[in-house]
Amino acid sequence: ASAITLRNLHKRFSGDAIALDGVDLEIRAGEFFTLLGPSGCGKTTLLRLLAGLEAPNEGSLTIGGKDVTETPPHLRSVNTVFQSYALFPHLSVHDNIAFGLRMKGIPAAERERRVQEIADFIKLGSLLERRVNQLSGGQRQRIALARALVCEPDVLLLDEPLSALDAGLRTQLQVELQRTQKRLGMTFVFVTHDQDEAMVMSDRIAVLDSGIIQQVGPPHEVYERPINAFVARFMGHVNLFDIQGIHDVTVTTALGELAMEAPLQPGKHGGVMLIRQEVIELGPTVSEGYNGLDGVVKERHYRGSRIEYRLEVNGQPLMATASNLGQRLYAVGDRIKVSIHPEDVVRIE
Ligand code: ADP
Ligand code: MG
Repeated sequence: ASAITLRNLHKRFSGDAIALDGVDLEIRAGEFFTLLGPSGCGKTTLLRLLAGLEAPNEGSLTIGGKDVTETPPHLRSVNTVFQSYALFPHLSVHDNIAFGLRMKGIPAAERERRVQEIADFIKLGSLLERRVNQLSGGQRQRIALARALVCEPDVLLLDEPLSALDAGLRTQLQVELQRTQKRLGMTFVFVTHDQDEAMVMSDRIAVLDSGIIQQVGPPHEVYERPINAFVARFMGHVNLFDIQGIHDVTVTTALGELAMEAPLQPGKHGGVMLIRQEVIELGPTVSEGYNGLDGVVKERHYRGSRIEYRLEVNGQPLMATASNLGQRLYAVGDRIKVSIHPEDVVRIE
């Protein structure tokens, strides 16, 4: 496995599209690292720079301590799995996997051994003699992965490899991919626009917007302590309120006044208040030590494992998620007390 360092990477395309606008990143050896962001934010461009398929206009990158800014793709110990599998449809599974090894001039006996090994590992053993165009999407995705892994790169780049699959298969391959990465101890740089996928798979996530890294951290940090409103919205949060005033630990928004836990840095005003929808407690009374608000249930959405309520508090919409276990079910029109712990009142930029 190799560590990767990106320094002040800029990439402009002809016209004035700025794909990357000064990216600094440290990716650790053996890490499952995910680039997360909306379509067009520069994820693929960043992978292509790592692979050597594009050159930066400015900045440098090192892989395994070696500066590879000027190194052509075939001399970098990097392999890529693209979203479109890029397999040879008329070749057998075996020959697709063996292709890279053949190109590298690996002798036949060793080639056979490695193809067999990786096929067992990814559970493709029984498919080796089939032609690719006879296989399902999930099987093709596994072959694309096997083909990249068999060359034993230090770094594997994966560009939205699961986004074409349906939900069940996708969840299964998410787990499989994560296990494979841990077992082989390779560095994975994984690209997705799906925040749930990023959270479930990654050691760390970098959130990108318009070619700029917004935040880097482990999933719980990016989700629970987003650095700004863009990251908060992208991670799926909806309860965001402009801060109208702050006095000591009391923050005023359109919802009303709420106590926060941590004293604020003096001199800091404004920003946005975030309340995650799963921290909100609903009941007939306000919980001890909590902020209390009066709410009315406007909508109820049944989601099986949980229930989502759209409440109205002080004329403002507020979303709350309740676990569907031993909780009372509220109906549209019910008046309830909304309890929010001061630790869960979060101020962001
Ligand atoms: P993502 O993978 O996050 O969807 P991309 O890296 O593909 O984003 O694209 C980032 C930006 O760069 C977009 O505005 C896109 O239109 C532009 N771009 C990407 N590749 C090219 C190219 N070859 N020529 C011109 N513009 C490009
Ligand atoms: Mg892309």
